[in-house]
Order: sequence, then structure tokens, then C-alpha cells
Amino acid sequence: MSWVTELARADIVALRVYEHAAWRPELQRLHANELPWDPTGGDGRDGLNRYPQPQPRALVQRLAELYAVSPASVLLGRGSDEAIDLLCRAFCRAGTDAVLVCPPTFGMYSVCARIQGADVIEAPLLAEQSFALDEQQVLKRCTARTKLLFLCSPNNPTGNLLEEAAVLRLAAALAGRALVVLDEAYVEFSGRASLARRLGEFPNLAILRTLSKAYGLAGARCGALLADPEVIALLRKIIPPYAIPRLTVDAALARLAPSALAALHPQLATLLSERARLQRELPRLRAVRRVWPSDANFMLAQFDDAGDALERAAAAGLLVRDARGYPGLGCALRISVGTPEQNTRLLESWS
Ligand SMILES: *Cc1c(COP(=O)(O)O)cnc(C)c1O
Repeated sequence: MSWVTELARADIVALRVYEHAAWRPELQRLHANELPWDPTGGDGRDGLNRYPQPQPRALVQRLAELYAVSPASVLLGRGSDEAIDLLCRAFCRAGTDAVLVCPPTFGMYSVCARIQGADVIEAPLLAEQSFALDEQQVLKRCTARTKLLFLCSPNNPTGNLLEEAAVLRLAAALAGRALVVLDEAYVEFSGRASLARRLGEFPNLAILRTLSKAYGLAGARCGALLADPEVIALLRKIIPPYAIPRLTVDAALARLAPSALAALHPQLATLLSERARLQRELPRLRAVRRVWPSDANFMLAQFDDAGDALERAAAAGLLVRDARGYPGLGCALRISVGTPEQNTRLLESWS
């Protein structure tokens, strides 16, 4: 047995997959009970009257190129949120297994774990060390039942990168025992290279990427898990057969065309200079107690009175995220970098 089949739920490993309609684009389709023509007048071969290709090849191939991994290492999902859910379902036995998270962090890891009936174990980030990983606590709290370790870098909501060497040390220490899932939703804003380049050396490392943030496609719902081909094959067994809509594939391929990618560069530069401006200006405001550094497209700021700050932003027509619910962050708000005009209006609302 491989380490993946030993780590995963035995019933999922043994599961017979749903046999979706065969994909034979060279033949005309009378096998999927679709409407045989496009009601809007197309010839019916490629329209929305047809079910989409499961794991659409062209987009898998394109994302594999973009992320510099092999297509067999890519699982496409409806946002990376879907991959988080599938990981919990494939690896955690309800009522028995656990995931480990490092709060304050993205809430979906523990929500998906709980929906699956898995325990959530916590090893908090070290607030006094710029929210660094507490490697010792992570290893101490990882038991034989801990199947997944979720890490987020840059971390949401604190905005900091995790130390690369620490992530890799954890992956090495947990080899064969747990999957280390590194969420890089914001890595494009950090100037740091993705750890996807190290997947070959660390088979129990898995990486989440998304088109929702830097690529501006949150509405299309498209994300990817990059992992060992055996992990990907296992998750392909349980993802719904027609998960990725045709409209999403078309939108993603268009956004990733060379000319569209080239147009994103100057926009990223604008976003980063606006981030720098907010980092510079926010601490000068009287209502602001502190601003944490950021490697993402948002930042965390602490206020004397966060409720008042929320109200003033709303009065200026702007919504920022209340982060007071996170343990240990105090009166904090999470601010997404907006357009230059929006950022100016936000700063004015607090001055
Ligand atoms: C926004 C975000 C995602 C992306 O989710 P999608 O489902 O791909 O839109 C993933 N992880 C974190 C930490 C995020 O903040």
C-alpha cells in the first residue's frame, strides 16, 4: 500500500466511482440525455446544452503551465474552497480523525473539517513573533489521527508569509503521517515564488492556488490543488463529475491568455503601491493603534474603537471586515486594498 492509500479513508480508496458519460469529442453525443441542439440557434456541438468535460483538459493543462507542475498534479475545483472540502472528506473519518490549523487563519479549514465530522486541533501562530509558525506545538499536537495540517501563506487575516524553511521542515517531519496543505491564495502579492516547485521532494506537501484573488476571477469560481498525482487521482474520484462549468473554463482560459496576463502586471503594481500607501498612512491616523505588515492584498489594523471605525467606513460607503471575532487580535479590522479613490475615501473617513 502507498502512503496515500494508508493515510486516506479506506472506504474512499475502495469507492467505485460514478461513471460519467464517456468523453469522446470525435463522436456525436446521444449518450448523456442532453438537449441535442442549442436552443439559442448554435449547431449544438459545443454549446451550453452539453455537459462540460470533467476536469477540462485545456484548463488543467494551462494551470499546470502557469504553476509549473505536471497536469497529473492538478485538481481543478470550484474555487480552492472545493479542494479544502474534498481533502477533508477523502482523508478524515468522521468521529475519528482530525485536522490541525494554526489560528488566527482562514475559517474554511475548520468549517470543512467540522462538516465532515473531523476534530479540529489548534496550534496558534505566535502573535508576538509576527504570527510565525509554532513548529514545536504543531508537531506536539499532531497525533496519529491528524490527517491534514492546513497552513496559509500569506496568512489570512494576518497578511504575513510563513517561513518557507519552517513549512518544509514540517512537511519532512510529517512525511507519510499527514498531508501538509499550504494555501497560497495570496502568493502573487508577496513577491515570493510558490512552494509548488518543491512538490517533487515533499510528496506529502499539497498547495492550494486560486484565480479568485490576483487574477480577478472570484466570480468564476476556479481554484486548484497541486499535489502528488496519487492524491489528485483520489480526489478526482470524489469531486462531482461535472464540477467545472463551461462558462468558468472559457473565462479562465481567456484571463490566462498571454495578452490578458500582460494587462494584469501593471494592475498588480498599482495594487502594491496602494498597499504601501495604506501601510504608510493608516498608522498616522489617531483612531488607529497599529497596522500589521502585509504580503497580501489586504492588511490587518487595530483601532481604539473598531465599531466606530466600521460605522465611519460605512458612512463613506465602504465595507471592511470586522476581525474582532478572531482570538488574540483585539479591536482589529481587515482592510482589502481598493482602488486609489476608494483608499483615499477610506483614509478620509477615519481621519
Ligand atoms: C480567498 C481565499 C481562498 C480562495 O478561495 P476560492 O474558493 O478559490 O475563491 C483560499 N484561501 C484563502 C486563505 C483565502 O483567503
